[in-house]
Amino acid sequence: MRVQLLPSTFDSQGRATSEQRLTCFLIDECVAVDAGSIALALTTEQRHNVRDIIVTHPHMDHIASLPIFIDDLFETLKSPVRIYATPEVIDLLERDIFNWNVYPRFSELQNEFGPVMEYVPIPQNEEFKVAHLTATAVSVNHIVPTVGVIVSDGKSTVAFSSDTAETDEFWRVINRVPHINALLIEASFPDSMAKLAEVSRHYTPASLGRDLRKLNHNSLDILAVHIKPAYRQLVIDELNALKIPKLGVMESGRVYTW
Ligand SMILES: [Zn+2]
Ligand SMILES: [Zn+2]
Repeated sequence: MRVQLLPSTFDSQGRATSEQRLTCFLIDECVAVDAGSIALALTTEQRHNVRDIIVTHPHMDHIASLPIFIDDLFETLKSPVRIYATPEVIDLLERDIFNWNVYPRFSELQNEFGPVMEYVPIPQNEEFKVAHLTATAVSVNHIVPTVGVIVSDGKSTVAFSSDTAETDEFWRVINRVPHINALLIEASFPDSMAKLAEVSRHYTPASLGRDLRKLNHNSLDILAVHIKPAYRQLVIDELNALKIPKLGVMESGRVYTW
């Protein structure tokens, strides 16, 4: 499985930098997990291949350019963009984003070929199909209804935590999977901001370190994502100080193969 964290920050020459402000992972050039930077960082070819998007929760950094992505493709879509999300998240997207005020309600619009956007309600703790992949959504501990997802192509399995603070169910489900190749886990705030991390339900390196003790697998790559740009180096230093084998930081733009 090929997984890329799309870039979301660009320097004055337009070159992507390592800072992550938005969240969007591209799997095998055709499936996205979250859509923060989806309209900003896909190649033309990728833009025409991606029709399946799993939305873990409706926070702006995870959906910011989703409306623009559909808008860009509106007239050329021969099949709808499918948004996979829990019923709670679908309701929030319809109420707060695709509400005719912030953006058009694409789920009610068609082009000459048919509907342009379609919701696919997903279950929790139960497998569902997304393109050629199998996925399982698991509720995590965030301030709005949010799921982590475990995605498999039949050979490799990659787990995405989405945004979360200390949690149990996600680890229980991961521990039940026979083999996990990689875990892409959030680490938002430095340890000195533990209070803010707690009220906004995010990890710090210290709380992530505690939660990783719940993980029974040991040969997987663990890559931190969602590091707040203002504290990036500090969080990276604190993660390194944990000295957890195979724990690193995911580079945006790089294609990882598992
Ligand atoms: Zn969030
Ligand atoms: Zn976020």
